Amino acid sequence: TVRTRIAPSPTGDPHVGTAYIALFNMCFARQHGGQFILRIEDTDQVRSTAESEQDILGALRWLGLDWDEGPDVGGPKGPYRQSERKDDYKAYALELVEKGHAFYCFRTPEELDKIREERKAAGLNPGIKGDLELSDDEVNAKLAAGVPHVIRMKVPDEGTCVIEDMLRGTIEIDWSQVDCQILLKSDGMPTYHLANVVDDHLMEITHVIRGEEWINSAPKHQLLYQYFDWDMPVLCHMPLLRNPDKSKLSKRKNPTSINYYERMGFMPEAVVNYLGRMGWSMPDESEKFSLEEMIEKFDISRVSLGGPIFDVEKLSWLNGLWIRENLSDEDFSKRLQQWAFNSERMKPLIPHVKGRVDTFSDVVPLAGFMFSGMLDLTVEDFNHNKLEEGQVKRVLQFALWKLEAQRHWTKENIFADVKALSKAMELKMGEFNFPIFVAIAGTPNSWSVMDSMTLLGPDMTRARLRHALN
Ligand code: ATP
Ligand code: GLU
Repeated sequence: TVRTRIAPSPTGDPHVGTAYIALFNMCFARQHGGQFILRIEDTDQVRSTAESEQDILGALRWLGLDWDEGPDVGGPKGPYRQSERKDDYKAYALELVEKGHAFYCFRTPEELDKIREERKAAGLNPGIKGDLELSDDEVNAKLAAGVPHVIRMKVPDEGTCVIEDMLRGTIEIDWSQVDCQILLKSDGMPTYHLANVVDDHLMEITHVIRGEEWINSAPKHQLLYQYFDWDMPVLCHMPLLRNPDKSKLSKRKNPTSINYYERMGFMPEAVVNYLGRMGWSMPDESEKFSLEEMIEKFDISRVSLGGPIFDVEKLSWLNGLWIRENLSDEDFSKRLQQWAFNSERMKPLIPHVKGRVDTFSDVVPLAGFMFSGMLDLTVEDFNHNKLEEGQVKRVLQFALWKLEAQRHWTKENIFADVKALSKAMELKMGEFNFPIFVAIAGTPNSWSVMDSMTLLGPDMTRARLRHALN
């Protein structure tokens, strides 16, 4: 039976790219009467968080992309979280050392940099190759002395690696471009490559459908399957989503978090429909279709490789169709209530609102910006007796840049970012905050803009700062 998987790393907000790849994996599995699995790839312990995992699961569920096996629902091939499978990977890495397909490497990152530099200077391939392997005696001595080490896989020095891709046909990559990849890190954790291959095998994945960005990893994976003497799943590398300017979809230019689309009040059905049109079309070219219809008509060979453009305006248009054609007045009212006027959304607002209103009718004018998308702003809104226009623009631009890099969206971190910037620009916090207040809340008279940004989330905050700059 066909088994596919989505294997997100819980290192940030739930990405629309993850949902897109999940959708195609799910359709492929369903269409073949197979299973669709969710596996959490949290081997990067520094960047992985439990909140991000929760968020990703929640976002995929919101979209209705349900999985048959996963960390929350269990299944016969679990655990489905790589951090809980740690010991397995180590055994597999040692098996490869044993078989002579992998070796211990004791070089520090600095030493490796130096080796690379020297090779480059000598006109040689700067890659990390098998010549770093030491004799058994040297290895044993270093292991006995407790020298920190990693385990690397062996990779041929020359020749061509040939890979078959379901959509792309034969892909050839020169082995000289491929490093002797680390399999097991010095902390005993596996790298993505080892864990991914071991788990795809143990979880009996038959088709690996993932983003194009992983093509360069495929030679290493194929080699690992050969070393272990395992059958390799069929590979299928999907085209990546792109910004309207054709560059790779990035949060610097577009909201990429599914949370943003939820907060903007999109219908999950419309988002899934739109993602289904990324590089794919219905046989009759219809633009609006449900997940069930997509599964029914799904044919992966209809994927076209030209980079699909994720255009928020087109998505909005499609969402409008869904709202008008699929929601009765009663459905509309229910959905609206679920979307915004539910206690989960309300609760964090109440402490800010309660002290500032006399009647309930004061709430909407005060807190409307928390339920809005892009705000209607004019140049006059940004007039300030101490800040000139250039400064206003700089504040917004610097805040945008700084907050784009913020990986942990907490009030403390946002506050620290803003404080550092106001200091660097030699502005008082109040002055610095003024344009941000206007961009985020539409008015300087609101509760703490740090609270607003925290609650609105990174994508909505960035989108409003970008909008204010335009
Ligand atoms: P950005 O370029 O905005 O920084 P990112 O590289 O931070 O995006 P990641 O956190 O690396 O995004 O990726 C999260 C998930 O989303 C990964 O599974 C990745 O494969 C997927 N992804 C990222 N960008 C795209 C894209 N343009 N198309 C499809 N999937 C993508
Ligand atoms: N953990 C990888 C990711 O974040 C999975 C890549 C794959 O599907 O092999 O996208």
